[in-house]
Amino acid sequence: MMNLNHKEWEQKMDNINWKEMLEDVEAALMDNLAAEIGFPTYDRLLQSSELISGRYHLTYLSDGRFAWWNPDTYATGEDPCFFSNKEEMVAYIASVIQLNQEQQEKLRFNLQSFQQMKRCETCDHEYNPKDPIRYEWDGDKDNQAYCSFECAVESVLKEEKDF
Ligand SMILES: [Zn+2]
Repeated sequence: MMNLNHKEWEQKMDNINWKEMLEDVEAALMDNLAAEIGFPTYDRLLQSSELISGRYHLTYLSDGRFAWWNPDTYATGEDPCFFSNKEEMVAYIASVIQLNQEQQEKLRFNLQSFQQMKRCETCDHEYNPKDPIRYEWDGDKDNQAYCSFECAVESVLKEEKDF
């Protein structure tokens, strides 16, 4: 019976855009990951993070913690890890990606130059205050408390309303 409909079935399957569908699911999943770490979108998270090894990243959050994450392991159900203690973090990372003593030293050293995020006063999201995209609207660095032009505008509007 199935064989009779085989051709039809195949045609039906061909009409579904699997690639697009999977891409949508993947994009939603990655935005979820970003939200767990405090960012509005995956792109923002990616631009605010340092690639460590493979697809493992570190993000230096506004509250002083580091987030350790990987889009591939997240897709298989592994949550991002958060560390407030640098030594514990280096030991953990060393065990996950197999770092020898010298590589651990290098990681410790590199951590010192990581850009720390700030938290937007309007939307509460994490953002990179040194993100080059900010120069388009915050070239004078007058709006360092906000993640975006929209959030800076919203704060002004709110102030006017309160006044
Ligand atoms: Zn914001």
